[in-house]
Amino acid sequence: MPDEKKTGGDSVCFRCGSPLGKDDAGAYRRFVDRDAERFLCMRCLCTDLGCSESYLRGRIEFLRENGCLLFPKEGSQ
Ligand SMILES: [Zn+2]
Repeated sequence: MPDEKKTGGDSVCFRCGSPLGKDDAGAYRRFVDRDAERFLCMRCLCTDLGCSESYLRGRIEFLRENGCLLFPKEGSQ
């Protein structure tokens, strides 16, 4: 597949091309590859991990509450 639009990169899922949410890159680093430079969106990550999206989001919130730097706190939501 030719790389037509290289917009500086890590802001979309490298598998399906979906835009990444704010926690997606952190989740990939946390659960797959600490040194990753490209990431999967939440849905693809859940497929790989074999878990549900709500489960993964719960894990992320838990880690955020515990001060994990991969998941910065910002506002509510
Ligand atoms: Zn994806």
